[in-house]
Amino acid sequence: MAKSCGEHSKFSLRLVVDEEKKKVVLAEACSDFVDVLFSLLTLPMGTIVRLLEKHRKSEIGCLSNLYKSVVEMGIDDFETEACKQMLLYPRSLRDVQCKRLKLNLHPTDGVKMFACHTWRSCNMCSNFSTSRCPCGKLMEKAIPVRVGAEDVDKIQNGVFVRGRSSFIITDDLKVAVRSIDLVLTELKSVGCGDFSKVGERLVDIGFEEVMTLLQCIFSSNAPLTDTFLNKRSPRGLSTKTCETTSTYKERKTEEVITVSAIVRKHETKILHLECGEDFVDLLFTFLALPLESVLEISGNSSTFGCIGNLFKSFKELSATQVSTFKAVIPHYYKCQKQLLNIITEQRPSWKRLVDGEPVVLIDPKSDGNDQPTQARGFAKRDTKFAVSDDLVITPMNSISTFCFLKKLQAQASDLEVKEISITKTEATSLLEASLLTSSALNAALWNLIAKKLKDET
Ligand SMILES: [Zn+2]
Repeated sequence: MAKSCGEHSKFSLRLVVDEEKKKVVLAEACSDFVDVLFSLLTLPMGTIVRLLEKHRKSEIGCLSNLYKSVVEMGIDDFETEACKQMLLYPRSLRDVQCKRLKLNLHPTDGVKMFACHTWRSCNMCSNFSTSRCPCGKLMEKAIPVRVGAEDVDKIQNGVFVRGRSSFIITDDLKVAVRSIDLVLTELKSVGCGDFSKVGERLVDIGFEEVMTLLQCIFSSNAPLTDTFLNKRSPRGLSTKTCETTSTYKERKTEEVITVSAIVRKHETKILHLECGEDFVDLLFTFLALPLESVLEISGNSSTFGCIGNLFKSFKELSATQVSTFKAVIPHYYKCQKQLLNIITEQRPSWKRLVDGEPVVLIDPKSDGNDQPTQARGFAKRDTKFAVSDDLVITPMNSISTFCFLKKLQAQASDLEVKEISITKTEATSLLEASLLTSSALNAALWNLIAKKLKDET
């Protein structure tokens, strides 16, 4: 049904509409469109934030602030220039697969390799054009590397779903292979047993509509209705209270990041955190995670409303193996302390050139001046940062301590500093809260402070 590739592709979508309530009951779509819908889940959070900022300036939880912090921080606050680039333009291991989509919101040149202009003697390459070769020159030249077996996508027919089936999509984004039985069940379940009240509409969906749909999945429980019937701009994400459930198994040797929370006692509120680079790296990793990985790590997709429904359908209908749903991110996102349940792919030590000799692949976080076994972070080592409740990050060297305290607008007598330890449990809550609320620190960490205050009395 798609006319051509790229930004200008259009699909036809058949909507079944409850004409009285002005609400979409379900949509019938081809597998090409279902692939596009599922591809929204494969976008890294940083990419979603950037696309939605361009599209009607809409924001997602605290992630938009996190992204803006990366934009505003100077190159000196990062380990290398490429660290900033890889956070502003995050890449996903599914980029190659997404090249075959009929409509791709975010085409990337994911498999390109870069090197300096004297690369044949330096013998080094990087995934990013902002990396600096150990010889001192910028690695801005794209070089011809042979595509490895791991980069070749084997499914030829379809991208995520196989075959030529038709699908139905409910207003809250459950996707299933179309059958009369399912359509009837759905009609009955929304009280549309009387067919006279139900109409059918054929709509065109192109780049703009998919963007609006992307915006709606974060802000509405009825994204199809809001995209095609209301055509209004939905408000930002409704702030939900995020339940911190401690269902994650604790291990004795668990990794921990220690931070200082500046607490306003009588309001029982965390105002800011003072932290080192490991905690900032943890937050920055959120931007590199594809939406599907956020849900996978959370393990609690019902918290995410219709995004959770879409994710469940993605897993059920996907032609690829279930193991591909583990939260796997490219090797260059590996940090020293990995609190979240993420797998970083192994960094290949070299890439073979098209015309022969291999070149060494560097870690763009260290520009090639590293021990191959040592993982680096994004933020400059030995730096102190302040993080606000809504995840604005400020390097502390850019502001005096007194100035900072004054900005908090509190009496010194009302402020207290509490040291807390962030484990996998808190890191996971923080990830969920960064997407679902505009008060991530308090939603995810207040319990920890409350316990500490209680223990002290
Ligand atoms: Zn060089």
